[in-house]
Amino acid sequence: MRIDIPTMVLLNVAASATLACSLGWVARRQDRDGLQLWTGALILYTMALVLLALRTKIPDFVSIMVANVVLAGSQSLFLAAIAQLLERRIAPSLLWGPPLILAGAYGLLMSDLPMRVIVSSVIFSAQLLMVMRVLGSRKHAVNGRGKHLVFFGLTIMIASHVVRLIGAALGAEDATDLMQETPLRTLLFLSTFVTLIVVSLGFILMVKERADERTRLMAMQDPLTGTWNRIRLDEAAQTEMARFVRHGHPVSVIMVDLDHFKGINDKFGHASGDRILRGFSRIAQDCIRANDVLGRWGGEEFVLLLPDSTLPDAVALAERIRSALAGHAFGGGIKVTASFGVATCQASDTWESWLHRADLALYRAKAAGRNRVETECQGPQGDDPGGHFVALIWSPAYESGSAQLDDQHRALFDHSNQLLSAILDNRSKPEIMALIRVLVDSIKHHFMDEEAIMRVLGYAQAEPHCVLHQRLMARAEQFADRFAQEQLGVGEIFQYLAHELVAQHILIEDRKYFPLLAA
Ligand code: GH3
Ligand code: MG
Ligand code: MG
Repeated sequence: MRIDIPTMVLLNVAASATLACSLGWVARRQDRDGLQLWTGALILYTMALVLLALRTKIPDFVSIMVANVVLAGSQSLFLAAIAQLLERRIAPSLLWGPPLILAGAYGLLMSDLPMRVIVSSVIFSAQLLMVMRVLGSRKHAVNGRGKHLVFFGLTIMIASHVVRLIGAALGAEDATDLMQETPLRTLLFLSTFVTLIVVSLGFILMVKERADERTRLMAMQDPLTGTWNRIRLDEAAQTEMARFVRHGHPVSVIMVDLDHFKGINDKFGHASGDRILRGFSRIAQDCIRANDVLGRWGGEEFVLLLPDSTLPDAVALAERIRSALAGHAFGGGIKVTASFGVATCQASDTWESWLHRADLALYRAKAAGRNRVETECQGPQGDDPGGHFVALIWSPAYESGSAQLDDQHRALFDHSNQLLSAILDNRSKPEIMALIRVLVDSIKHHFMDEEAIMRVLGYAQAEPHCVLHQRLMARAEQFADRFAQEQLGVGEIFQYLAHELVAQHILIEDRKYFPLLAA
């Protein structure tokens, strides 16, 4: 098969002109999605190809130097288009430097074809690498597959530049008419053709994916305050709960309700009420970290989801927001307060049960006079027990009817108490780590035995029960490491043992199958 170079050039020109016309037609002035710049890049590219194709028919200066500078200019516009789509700023020198350097170099090298090829290959490749860098930047990433296509096309193009550079260095380029067939030229025009199609397709996909992403985000935003809505809060909560189960990082939630808001509306009007809702969102936003999630739950209720935050962390944040709001005077000197309920996620939680505990705490804050922060009430808070001894106390009422299970449950209480008192007595780290390991082992063995018993009993809810075991186990297994790294305090251990393991699991979940034991 022979590949005729003029035909290939014509195909390249036709493809890029068609793409330029099509995109230019649909690109909209007000949209900063890079389509206009991409069209500009395609126009320059088409022009450069035409000039290159006219070698020997027009002055060399135009068909060599101008054509290559225009080509470099078109690559700069490709870069600018992608940067605009990804909302990234690019230094003008990076955009316009390469065409200028190329112009200067060609001015000096007009009579040296191999050097020209080497210089242009290096400059073009550097420009394409810059495009790849902008595309690869994680901060401005577009989620989707379009960018993979663009990457793929750019890789082909860079590879063909490298081959051409090596060819030139080895003397394989000749000064004859560009339209004359050589393997290198065939490769070059074939790869530019493929790249053009692949990269443009990829870019169009990226524009679409970005628009989809914007719509998705808009659908998750509260139009009045700009905070997230329930859809996003639910999604973020599920993600954080999964992370908590997998890695054991604590995660907390704050539920906020503005106080006597109905009165504010009645007294100052609904528009003032709206302004205050927006103002509160700003105040809260200023207090939180970048990865905390603030959302409007509805009406004058807000929810804050706080990754990597223990109960005391969340209480401190709620207190900061509370006092910032209480100290703020809105337009017309209006003062508003809010009440806060705080709860931290537990292994046995669903999003609903977790939020419900925050809601109960909020209810207590309201009942206690408003403008205050309340937490779910379990165990000592904070990592400084202040010398108070805490212990789990076994009661005959906890018995199941199975001597084996009761022995194991009692052993869990004993191991838990030994661990808690070792921590409160400030015993050495290795000693505490050893007690953590003993406790974790006894939980593990107990769960295994209990699962076997449930299966023998034919307990219908054995599956979900085992899932709870897995979650509790996953969390316990991280305790030793987290304690070693000083990320785990007595408050959290107590919370886990007293509330998640005993109050929620042994006293609620386990009791569901105890009647089968008795039978
Ligand atoms: P409490 O301290 O017990 O929370 O009293 P409250 O008056 O804040 O509670 P209640 O639930 O009785 O009233 C909530 C009010 O919030 C009623 C409603 O008019 C107002 N509200 C809900 N959504 C909006 C909104 O989008 N804009 C305005 N301006 N007001 C809203
Ligand atoms: Mg309310
Ligand atoms: Mg209210």
